[in-house]
Amino acid sequence: MTSYADRIWPLGAQHKLIEIDLRSDTVTHPTPSMQRAMANAELGDDGWGDDQTVNNLQEKVADLLGKESALFVPSGTMANLTSILTHCQRGDEIIVGDQSHIYYYEYGGASSFGGVAYRLLPNAEDGTLDPITVKASIRPDTPRFPRTSLVCLENTHNRCNGAVLSIEYINSIANIAHESGAALHIDSARLFNASISLGIPAKDLVASADSVMFCFSKGLSCPIGSIICGSSSFIEKARIVRNSLGGGMRQVGVIAAAAIVALDEMIERLAEDHANARRLAEGLSLSPEFIIDPARIETNIVIIKLRDGNAQELLNTLAQNGLGASKVDEEHIRMVTHYGIYSQDIDRALKILDASIK
Ligand SMILES: *Cc1c(COP(=O)(O)O)cnc(C)c1O
Repeated sequence: MTSYADRIWPLGAQHKLIEIDLRSDTVTHPTPSMQRAMANAELGDDGWGDDQTVNNLQEKVADLLGKESALFVPSGTMANLTSILTHCQRGDEIIVGDQSHIYYYEYGGASSFGGVAYRLLPNAEDGTLDPITVKASIRPDTPRFPRTSLVCLENTHNRCNGAVLSIEYINSIANIAHESGAALHIDSARLFNASISLGIPAKDLVASADSVMFCFSKGLSCPIGSIICGSSSFIEKARIVRNSLGGGMRQVGVIAAAAIVALDEMIERLAEDHANARRLAEGLSLSPEFIIDPARIETNIVIIKLRDGNAQELLNTLAQNGLGASKVDEEHIRMVTHYGIYSQDIDRALKILDASIK
């Protein structure tokens, strides 16, 4: 296993080695205590329900989020797809944001694997969908229309600057969905970033959702893994769907052990990532080349509009100077703070950014 202290990540043949990697919080490696827990995990065959470590993890998460049951899955994409396929039948429609990860990055899985159609609504800059439009988009329950079985929200919102949805907003969308017989799923890959930013327990943020998923492999620094929570009957069905997608695993305690450590040790520290993201945004806002409002940085994702566009050219220059960032589109780049990035790295990143636009 590579030690995290070895903070060097190759970015591809055209680049030198990256010194400060802000491409994503997924670049984080397991912490030393995760590595110890992984090495010493009690294991069994989860196909037979025998892996005590993953059983413990699933119980711990269900308890933490106030849901009846939880299911460990290999990735966030599989968590969302499994949830959608569990809620929906072929020919159903789901309401998702046009900037949502589910729509934008998950390869149309709901359609290609489940025969489910996406009804896209525009995401506002703060990651919300307009409640009136959501209400109007849920199909009336008549034989003339497909069934709208699910509304999906994203919290924090990846493509909307890591924006956090308020509890009042989430509950209002849940009410609208439930009044019309639709379920609410929350893609909360970065649930604990939302919780820490708002100062509200994660449990409260997902109380009105029928299903929720979050990732261990992002800011919580685990190598692999996401989890779905919901009612016992939902999770029972989801287990079959996950397994049918090839997501059943065997001695999965090897990775579940890291996830347990993440829950105990990696949640509170997310506040540091938020402070670093804000520091980065404040530094950038001093330059006329970068268009950014630091007040809008609520979590660990910083999206910057480039006055002169040409995101790819800037990314190449940054990489040559040792800073990893990622592209949102031609005019926007993204930087994400995470475990292993310190305030002095932010100062260095600002210097590199400043030098790269000259
Ligand atoms: C990363 C991410 C996912 C998917 O997770 P993977 O493990 O990369 O498949 C889903 N939703 C959001 C909001 C994400 O940021």
